[in-house]
Amino acid sequence: MDHHARVLRLRRKLKGLDAILVTDPKNVRYLTGFTGSAGYVLIRPEGDLFITDFRYREQSSLEVTGMEVLIEARGMVDALGALLEGKKKKKIGIEPSMTFAQYSELKEAGLSPVSMDDAIERMRMLKDKDELLRIKEAVRRAEDAFGHIKPHIRVGRTERSIALRLERRMKELGSGETPFPIIVASGANSSKPHAGAGEKKLKKGDLVTIDWGAEADGYSSDMTRTFLLAGGKDMAKKKKIYATVKRANRAALKALKPGTGLKAIDAVARGLIRDKGYGEYFGHGLGHGVGLDVHEEPRLSPKGKGRAREGMVVTIEPGIYIPGVGGVRIEDMAFVTGKGKSVLTKLPVELEILG
Ligand code: ZN
Ligand code: ZN
Repeated sequence: MDHHARVLRLRRKLKGLDAILVTDPKNVRYLTGFTGSAGYVLIRPEGDLFITDFRYREQSSLEVTGMEVLIEARGMVDALGALLEGKKKKKIGIEPSMTFAQYSELKEAGLSPVSMDDAIERMRMLKDKDELLRIKEAVRRAEDAFGHIKPHIRVGRTERSIALRLERRMKELGSGETPFPIIVASGANSSKPHAGAGEKKLKKGDLVTIDWGAEADGYSSDMTRTFLLAGGKDMAKKKKIYATVKRANRAALKALKPGTGLKAIDAVARGLIRDKGYGEYFGHGLGHGVGLDVHEEPRLSPKGKGRAREGMVVTIEPGIYIPGVGGVRIEDMAFVTGKGKSVLTKLPVELEILG
């Protein structure tokens, strides 16, 4: 990972500031490679520092590249006060994710914190080669694990037992902590977009939505497939919902290319779903960026800002959720290339009716 190049890009934001303080653990990892929980970065005109305490002496010497490591016994505010000693305004760029308590402490110590907004999150939107490799590995782990547990998606199994098998298999394939709790939502549960995985047993005719992802070296994957269990009622209606979501997913993927507005890509899927009469049943955004965080910038939604750009990795996940009938979501991940996109998830999207 070229941490140095990232730090150089961030240094351009130093204008008018005495320093930039980075406290968000994912942003710290992005800039330095440090995977521990306690450490922060101080970007200064005179040189950049990764600051941690003695517990992380060894780990930081192995992981941190691109800047000097400082082992500091004092708390963050005292250490910063000392490091900015002699600067007149002590103007320091901070991240909006900092707690109000930390912010207040900085002010009390005589520093002038200024919000950096989402400067680092915006850098993180565009993935480099090394990041893409890790994301592809996270996709591979999730898809391989899914292939292994798929025979367990059948009548009589509980949602939870399927989720547990999937999580275990992903970990056996090298995934660390799964980036989010796996969703296995069947029957009436499937009409709740963010249901968990409960003790409910799968029944004939259930739509079963599975939303899962794996981890690889800090990077995430995120995908969803929906199946139909044979032999229940309203089968024609469920098939029609599935066909509509699939068309919306394919059309939005087709629309994804550099230069197209993120809002416009959302509108392609949303318009298609609305034209089929399901507009009120698609209540969430079309997709989001995926990287060190499973949900990150950019957002593809009716409120989405900006355009698709080469280097973005995003999900395309339209859904229709009808209370009492069930829900369908199909979620793929794609990498925006110079000319179009490359779809990273390879699992089939045709409706499978499982016996
Ligand atoms: Zn998902
Ligand atoms: Zn997602």
